[in-house]
Amino acid sequence: MQRTFKFRLYPNVGQSQKLQNNLAVCRWIYNKMIEKINKEGFQSRNDLNYFLTDLKEREPWLYSCHSKMLQMISTQIDGAQKALIQLRKNGNKTGTLRFSKHDEFQVFTYNQSGFDITRIGNTDLLYLSKIGSVQIRIHRNIPQDIKQITITKSKSGKWYVCITCNAVTVLPKISLAKSVGIDVGIKNFAYDSDGFVTPNPLNLQKMLKPLARMQRKIARRQMGSQNRKKALKFYQIIHERIKNRRKDFLHKISAQYAKKYDVVFVERLQKLNMVKNHKLAQKILDSGWGTFTNMLDYKCMLIEVPAKNTTIDCSRCGNKVPKSLAVRIHRCDRCGLVIGRDHNAAINILKKGLNIFNIKLPQELREVTPVEIQNGSVKQEETTWLVR
Ligand SMILES: [Zn+2]
Repeated sequence: MQRTFKFRLYPNVGQSQKLQNNLAVCRWIYNKMIEKINKEGFQSRNDLNYFLTDLKEREPWLYSCHSKMLQMISTQIDGAQKALIQLRKNGNKTGTLRFSKHDEFQVFTYNQSGFDITRIGNTDLLYLSKIGSVQIRIHRNIPQDIKQITITKSKSGKWYVCITCNAVTVLPKISLAKSVGIDVGIKNFAYDSDGFVTPNPLNLQKMLKPLARMQRKIARRQMGSQNRKKALKFYQIIHERIKNRRKDFLHKISAQYAKKYDVVFVERLQKLNMVKNHKLAQKILDSGWGTFTNMLDYKCMLIEVPAKNTTIDCSRCGNKVPKSLAVRIHRCDRCGLVIGRDHNAAINILKKGLNIFNIKLPQELREVTPVEIQNGSVKQEETTWLVR
């Protein structure tokens, strides 16, 4: 199995220029190759590599870059061409591969060779062929067997390296007794069948004001001026901060679930349909449920169940209790169950999931203690996980 680790790089001024130059060269070659494909049609990886050798003979300055790294561009385009052909076969409408614009090309790869990690004193260094030894902060242990490294530049100008290693992993035993149903929502990010609630941090929502302020600042500044560039960079930094906060939150909550349970059941979300609801679209996209389920999928076992009737069905007796979005409490007339709407849904999701394996819901979950009702709102012993 392969694992990838991401670390921050701290190049000095000269190294930054070399890295930047590398990106420019890669982009130039990429665009040359795309030009050839658009003119002459499909090119195999070998064709592209021959083309690269020709280019190098004509343009000797290309020797200032690690040759294997340049060959990875052929591999990249080869993959893109094949993906395009596959899409066409599946009946999708496809265009042609597009040229990469300035500042769009933010990544290059060293495969197998041309790099090394060393340690001098207290500083870790990443040696890159034709660039030099760049300071790297290795904040966690990585396996020795490194397959390839990918250098990326973030929009705000920070450099990172993704190190892909071969890792030996022992597959854990999975017990269905340790399973849980999770209902995801906008107000509460996750409500599980054991009654644990995690509020939705809505990171983007909190930052909308500073973002708008920066946008106004950019708009006021003169096109092409140094001050405008500065403002743009700061705008990108805010965006990155939002992205990092969201990712951090999702990693923490998914790790907590993976630690506690072996199997997680969630609803199959019709996300695209939900995004069509414009009032909620931004909040839905901000939540990152898709990333959350992806993380759960590799941290433990994730099984999706059909979303039909999970909020309507009574989790104790199966009676149908229709309710609008505003109704936060599930009240069943037949069996008298009164329970939070999301909690009811989470239990239903668990029930549906266990049903796949012909397992009945555990007794203690069927006998959920009815919650107290005070002033029309649900007062419940809610245990909220501490997510920073
Ligand atoms: Zn009922």
